[in-house]
Amino acid sequence: MGYEKIQVPAEGEKITMQDGVLQVPDNVVLPFIEGDGTGRDIWKASVAVFDAAVEKAYGGKRKVNWMEVYAGEKAYDMFNEWLPAETITAFEEYVVGIKGPLTTPIGGGIRSLNVALRKLLDLYVCQRPVQYIEGVPSPVKHPEYVDMVIFRENTEDIYTGAEFEEGTEENKKFMDMMKEEFPEQYEKFRFPNTAGISIKPVSQEGTARIVRAAIQWALDNKRKDVSLVHKGNIMKFTEGAFRGWGYEIAKTEFRNDIVTERETWILGNKESNPDMTVEENAKAVDPGFDMMAPDKQQEILGEVEEAMGLWDTHGDGKWKSKLRIRDTIADIVFQQTITRAKSFDVLATMNLNGDYLSDALAAQIGGMGIAPGANINYTTGRAIFEATHGTAPKYADLDQVNPGSVILSGEMMFRYLGWHEVADLILKGMSGAVAAKTVTYDFDRLMDGATKVKCSEFGEAMIKHMDD
Ligand code: NAP
Repeated sequence: MGYEKIQVPAEGEKITMQDGVLQVPDNVVLPFIEGDGTGRDIWKASVAVFDAAVEKAYGGKRKVNWMEVYAGEKAYDMFNEWLPAETITAFEEYVVGIKGPLTTPIGGGIRSLNVALRKLLDLYVCQRPVQYIEGVPSPVKHPEYVDMVIFRENTEDIYTGAEFEEGTEENKKFMDMMKEEFPEQYEKFRFPNTAGISIKPVSQEGTARIVRAAIQWALDNKRKDVSLVHKGNIMKFTEGAFRGWGYEIAKTEFRNDIVTERETWILGNKESNPDMTVEENAKAVDPGFDMMAPDKQQEILGEVEEAMGLWDTHGDGKWKSKLRIRDTIADIVFQQTITRAKSFDVLATMNLNGDYLSDALAAQIGGMGIAPGANINYTTGRAIFEATHGTAPKYADLDQVNPGSVILSGEMMFRYLGWHEVADLILKGMSGAVAAKTVTYDFDRLMDGATKVKCSEFGEAMIKHMDD
């Protein structure tokens, strides 16, 4: 493929996907977007860390040939476009890449370059690990208890962008249609004449692929628990459906490897009391059983019988070694991930809940300066690893900010490529630099006795500590 402005490196090969498995050549080409504002400082520090880690890990046997692709302000200057088509083509062709933060253009029909990239490449998983690095300043008492990974759905929900602005002709048309065709629903609008409208689609396929990715990742990485986060008690046909379809995928596609939380109760009850009848078990699992309507009681009895049908594969305590699937309501999860951080592991969420939750959890482990992220399509293999913070324009070109978010996104990227030795060295360098209290301004202001270093110097310190 010929590009107008992108310079393809003279050396190196593309990543490909064969039979669902990424094929990563030793001499690989990886596209990167430098990013706007502080992105420029951060990328310089980050690429030095990546190259040093690859060199130390493989002594020249493996190499990354970086290929700059353009988005944001730099693209606008070069192409008069915020997101040139050849950038998308490059990510399609080279499969895996990394990016710094991008300015959100005001006007011009683009809501957000990040959202556009995710949409155009159908990167349906926003994966955000939340793991503590010893020594990082944290506002909670036991940040070391935090080790979670969020799988946030990236393409649906209220973020789809199907909206009708208040006062527009489209909004009026939509409201007239509601009044005419769905009068009962229309009656629910408290102030219909001045309401902006946003549509929240949540589909079976969209739910299936995010939950499938979360469960598969949890199994591959020997994790213990996947929680489906939802507000299905209120939004039954979107968030409630997400919960229902999520369990269905778990049970139909991963039956032998998983156990639901309620199945653990049912099987556990039978194990501690082998004479227990199905009805006694149902009452133990749902203490309100006697008050339930007969059809609900039948449903619970059916559920107990279904769980007992798993006895051969899951009974006699075998369920204890399976991946547990449970669900949790989106409001309480904000409290419990702080007060019972240890009990959360992998969290599968819809788009909006996951957006809030990933930033809230990042606060526990040092904030946005070091929180990494990735947008991945586990079917095509395409992935863009990215800073989770913005461009922090007031610090641009001052060589001050923390490059940790892009660097740890790189750590995730190398692990995704199977270059674990590089990822391990990056983590070692980061832990060493933080433990020695050589930190950028954001950590320095929260730590006693730290040495404040520049963005580039933090990268240099990381490289030095790779040899510890
Ligand atoms: P921001 O750029 O994330 O900055 C907010 C604050 O977060 C900064 O003032 C700074 O706090 C802290 N911060 C951010 N990055 C840091 C780093 N690397 N090291 C240390 N501290 C860091 O958010 P914003 O000011 O709301 O957004 C600016 C622009 O970025 C907007 O155009 C926005 O649309 C865009 N944006 C892009 C992305 C993305 O590309 N993924 C994400 C979010 C926002 P202190 O002032 O306290 O030091």
